[in-house]
Amino acid sequence: MFTKNKINLTHFDKKTFDNEIISLVEKPFRSKQIWSWIYSHGLKNFQEMSNISKQLREILEEKFSLNRPQITKDITSLDGTRKWLIKFSDNREVETVFIPEENRGTLCISSQVGCTLACKFCHTGTQTLVRNLEFHEIVSQILVAKDLLNDWHSNSHLKSPLLTNIVFMGMGEPFFNYENVAQAIKILTDNDGLNFSLRKITISTSGLVPEILRCANELKTNLAISLHATNDALRTEIMAINKKFPLHELLSSCRFYNQENPRQKITFEYIMLRNVNDQEKNAIEMIDFIKRYNLNVKINLIAFNPWKGCDYQPSSETTIKIFQDILKNHEILTTIRKVRGQDVLAACGQLKSASIREKNKNYQ
Ligand code: SF4
Repeated sequence: MFTKNKINLTHFDKKTFDNEIISLVEKPFRSKQIWSWIYSHGLKNFQEMSNISKQLREILEEKFSLNRPQITKDITSLDGTRKWLIKFSDNREVETVFIPEENRGTLCISSQVGCTLACKFCHTGTQTLVRNLEFHEIVSQILVAKDLLNDWHSNSHLKSPLLTNIVFMGMGEPFFNYENVAQAIKILTDNDGLNFSLRKITISTSGLVPEILRCANELKTNLAISLHATNDALRTEIMAINKKFPLHELLSSCRFYNQENPRQKITFEYIMLRNVNDQEKNAIEMIDFIKRYNLNVKINLIAFNPWKGCDYQPSSETTIKIFQDILKNHEILTTIRKVRGQDVLAACGQLKSASIREKNKNYQ
C-alpha cells in the first residue's frame, strides 16, 4: 500500500511551525498549544493532545509525524551515567551522554557527526567529519533523553526535572555549526516548550575566536573553552586549532566575552595529562595569563579518560590536587571533574567507534 511521506513537525523552527499550524486552523493560539504538547509534555502522538479538537488532531495526523531518531545503543554505567548512540534518517550516528549528580542532571550533546579538529586527547578526533547536525537533530537529543529518562511534565512522580543542564561538549565543534546551534538554543529556551534557562546551557569550544566574539553578544549562554595547555607550543601540539588561533587571540577574545557579559565566568576546561601539562610550571603560566588578561574564569580540571591508541596517560589524583591548590592559592576558582561512566566507553566518541568496528566485523 502507498504510504504518504509525512513531514516531521519537530523539524521546524518556531516561526515555520507557527505558519504551518496557522495555515490549518482559524485560531492562532492552537499553535502554542501544540508546541507545548510536543516540547513541554513530550507527546509523540497527536491523538493525546486533549485540548485540540478531534478534527484538527486528524488533520495533524494526516499531514505530520512526531517521530524521534532511533536509539541504537543505550548503556548505563555503574555510576548512573547513561550513554546513548542516536541514529538519524541517513544512518549517521552521534553520542549523547546523561550525567546525573546530586542536585542536577547534565546532558552532553553532539553538534556534528565526527569532527575536523583531531585534538590529540579526544577519541572523536580520530573520526573524520561527516556532516553538521541540523538544529532539529541537536534538539532531538534532548527529546530522546527526556523520553528515556521519563522526564516529561506528564510524569507525576517527578518533583523537578532530572535533566537540568545542557552542555555542547559531545561530538564536534559547536562553533563550526554556529547557525544550527543558535537555532537549537532558541527552541531549547522557548518558554512555551522545553524552557531551559540560558544559564543552564553551556557551549564548549576548542577556541574559534570569531565565533567567541560573535557569541558574546548573540547567544548569551555559558561559555567553556577547551584550553588544555598553558603556552602556544604545547597547545599547538595537543590541539591543532591553536595554529590558527593562538593563545593571545584566544585570551583576548575571552576578555571581550567577559567585558560583554560581566556577570558570567568563562570555564576553562583543562584535561590533566601526565607529565605533559600537569606540572607546577603550567599552573604558574595559567595564573600569569589569567591575571595579565584580567579574566573572569573558573578552571575545571578534568581527569583524562584513557583510550586504546592514545599515548597520553592520566595524571595522578595527587598531581591534580597539587595543581588545584596552586591555582586556589591565587584565588582562582578551580574544580576537579571526576571520571564518569568509565565502564561504558565514556571518552567522547568511543561508543561510536565501537559501533563502527562492530558493523565492519559483521561485513567481513
Ligand atoms: S575535543 Fe572537541 S574539537 Fe577537539 S577533536 Fe574532540 S570533538 Fe573535536
